[in-house]
Amino acid sequence: MYFEIKDLQVYYRAIHALKGISLTVNKGEIVALIGGNGAGKSSTLNSISGLVQGQSGVITYKDEVITGLPTDMIVKKGIIQVPEGRHIFPKLTVQENLEMGAFLNDNKAQVEEDMEHVYQLFPRMRERRTQPGGTLSGGEQQMLAIGRGLMGHPDLMLLDEPSMGLAPILVEQIFDIIFDINQTGTSILLVEQNAQMALAIADRGYVLETGEIVVSGTGQELLNDPKVQAAYLGGE
Ligand code: ATP
Repeated sequence: MYFEIKDLQVYYRAIHALKGISLTVNKGEIVALIGGNGAGKSSTLNSISGLVQGQSGVITYKDEVITGLPTDMIVKKGIIQVPEGRHIFPKLTVQENLEMGAFLNDNKAQVEEDMEHVYQLFPRMRERRTQPGGTLSGGEQQMLAIGRGLMGHPDLMLLDEPSMGLAPILVEQIFDIIFDINQTGTSILLVEQNAQMALAIADRGYVLETGEIVVSGTGQELLNDPKVQAAYLGGE
């Protein structure tokens, strides 16, 4: 099994945020995790990447237990979390933000090559490379966050709400890019409130409600599921 979560539970003091969730990502898949505010989506990603500690349950990656490892170890193994775009470094330039994503890589030539790749994917980032990240628009910051993640050569990319706060045209662009990143061999676990777009590009998906997975299936099955439609697709 490429990636698996078994019976993951997370508490924040008295709040039982994740009540024993289990999910898998197969190599090469896009898996969507959808759910409303406070359902536990970020807690799931943060547990995987080591930002939340003290959880119970088992997380395995390439047949190795990674539960509770510190974040830098998780990153070294190839699991890279892309936070919402507003978590870029606002005072650093676009280029410096991208360099931060490659902090584990001593090979300068390789870092430059990777940066060129990011600039090809996001020409806008090249234009703005000397600007502080904080001066970018919401959509550009989201692109920068994804670009910074790519600089770390993810094998499994964890994306937290990449469409948050973006105009519809930008949302489409971001999802196209996620699809392209996946096509080049990166497996993706995608957390989204925008269920429609996420399920449309996902191989499979899980619906999280107050800390529990209530439905799972292929992206298409979930798009066609009446309960999912009523709760997350605006009855579309
Ligand atoms: P959102 O889309 O609003 O970020 P989410 O699905 O990502 O929601 P989580 O952020 O994982 O959900 O939150 C799950 C539950 O845990 C919520 O009730 C939230 O208030 C609570 N929670 C999250 N982080 C903390 C924390 N650091 N301390 C206390 N409670 C927390």
